[in-house]
Amino acid sequence: MLEVITGGMFAGKTEELLRRLERHRIARRRVALIKPDLDTRTTKVRTHNGKEFDSITVGRKDRAALEEIINENDVIGFDEAEFFSDELYRLLKELEQSGTEKIFIACGLDMDSEGEPFGIMPALMAIASDVTKLHAVCENCFVPANISFSVVDKKEQILVGGKDMYKALCWRCAAIEKRKKKEQSEQSFTV
Ligand SMILES: [Zn+2]
Repeated sequence: MLEVITGGMFAGKTEELLRRLERHRIARRRVALIKPDLDTRTTKVRTHNGKEFDSITVGRKDRAALEEIINENDVIGFDEAEFFSDELYRLLKELEQSGTEKIFIACGLDMDSEGEPFGIMPALMAIASDVTKLHAVCENCFVPANISFSVVDKKEQILVGGKDMYKALCWRCAAIEKRKKKEQSEQSFTV
């Protein structure tokens, strides 16, 4: 069964992933947590409140490594699933639609900071048995946030960062900030 946990940054996605994995670990199932090799700073997955879980770092396109870990475990979690290539999507689709008894829990961003669907997440959400969409709180007006707004100028879709680079905003506040950002950059051009 494929479960997807998605939403923006600061919504508690990783906490939810670890909570689900921990339940299976208590039941003595073989549990693995996989993350892409984009962020190699640590082999542990850490939540904002300091919870930790050992993880295995795998190449974004390394199907053989993914298959090996899946074979050896009953419950497999994927953190930052938006960074994996189509290989992971195709593999999970094959396994899921073969009627496997394994449980896959894919956790990742639904959209990038421009509001575009992120990587394989839309496809995973489509084939999943269960999708949970979580929201942070808008830092400007406190309604549920929709987007992880980039407070720095970024040129590529993938820019790994935290609170220093992104903030959670609702669409309305994001549109206001975007306008401000544009005005600022226009001003700096005319100077
Ligand atoms: Zn807002």
